Amino acid sequence: MDKPSEQESRERQRAAASAGRAAGYCWVRFGDRRQHCTAPPDHPGKHYDKFVRATLRALAEATAPKAQARGSAR
Ligand SMILES: [Zn+2]
Repeated sequence: MDKPSEQESRERQRAAASAGRAAGYCWVRFGDRRQHCTAPPDHPGKHYDKFVRATLRALAEATAPKAQARGSAR
């Protein structure tokens, strides 16, 4: 049997990964909190998160089409 929910989450992850890489990040998941690596794509050493909280925000903004349509929305 197919699991649509699983496939959907997979595609979501894929979209999130491409968004993070488009922003210039390594974006590998690591740690217990499944954080994304915000180091440069070809960085040496372990994966790490520069922003921690900011990472989630940046990801949300990157995946939000409205944010790109209008740069300055206050
Ligand atoms: Zn990394």
